[in-house]
Amino acid sequence: MARVIAVSNQKGGVGKTTTSVNLAAYLAAIGRKVLLLDFDPQANASSALGHQALSQEPGMYEGVLGEKESHEITKVSALERLHYIPGHPNLAGLLVELVNAPDREYFLRKFVLSLRHRYDYVFIDLPPSLSLLTVNGLVAADEIIIPVQAEYYSLEGLSQLLHTIALIKTNLRHPLKVAGAVLTMYDERERLSRDVEKELRSHFPHNVFQTVIPRAVALAEAPSFGKPVLFHAPDSPGALAYKRLADEIIAGEEVGLMPSHFGNFSIL
Ligand code: ADP
Ligand code: MG
Repeated sequence: MARVIAVSNQKGGVGKTTTSVNLAAYLAAIGRKVLLLDFDPQANASSALGHQALSQEPGMYEGVLGEKESHEITKVSALERLHYIPGHPNLAGLLVELVNAPDREYFLRKFVLSLRHRYDYVFIDLPPSLSLLTVNGLVAADEIIIPVQAEYYSLEGLSQLLHTIALIKTNLRHPLKVAGAVLTMYDERERLSRDVEKELRSHFPHNVFQTVIPRAVALAEAPSFGKPVLFHAPDSPGALAYKRLADEIIAGEEVGLMPSHFGNFSIL
């Protein structure tokens, strides 16, 4: 049964999609069966996997509304074990469709329940917002990975997100676990990067991945080739960092360090 992991942060441009695509790719390369759900109307994860942008093929929108079965909309990426279900700008319209539904927070969860038994990991790439799409993503997931860009305002955004997680836990009675925050676009030559890291680790000593993702040009270039970075520049620092993150996640499972054993974020 898959671990279902939402990759979320309401800030845009912090590395959610880059993390979803490349972490999913390395786990698949190690031999795990992985599904990436692109639940962002911008559909960047789909195009990073080589999906035709603005393709009229059905995807997450039709799946979540129950118009298509998951197997009808699942695509195989350049990696045999990495499957994905594409996003599309029409996902923005899903907000309107769902807003009056009584169980509007649970649509994605029901969809995920229909397919999670087929995979080891299901990743959900979420949009930069705290909208109903994001709430659906967090309610569908067992765990959340939070990419945190190494910059000054990141920690403020993080407290907002943790507040949302707390609301989801209490109001929707959903036991969402924090698998970890991952520092992205880190530049060890910059004092700011080092300061943000120090601050993050001192506030949340048990909830920050050891692996740090450097600012690395190959990660920014890979989407233009429509393939994860492991095809395009496997020896680049960015690629090696995502490989280490995948290894760290698997090592955590092997020593029984599942997220339920991590401490909770202390500012909740
Ligand atoms: P989000 O999904 O949070 O909006 P993205 O993953 O799309 O963020 O990243 C935003 C931009 O930054 C993209 O152009 C991406 O290619 C680039 N990027 C992401 N992570 C890195 C990194 N570690 N080094 C360099 N560029 C990065
Ligand atoms: Mg994104």
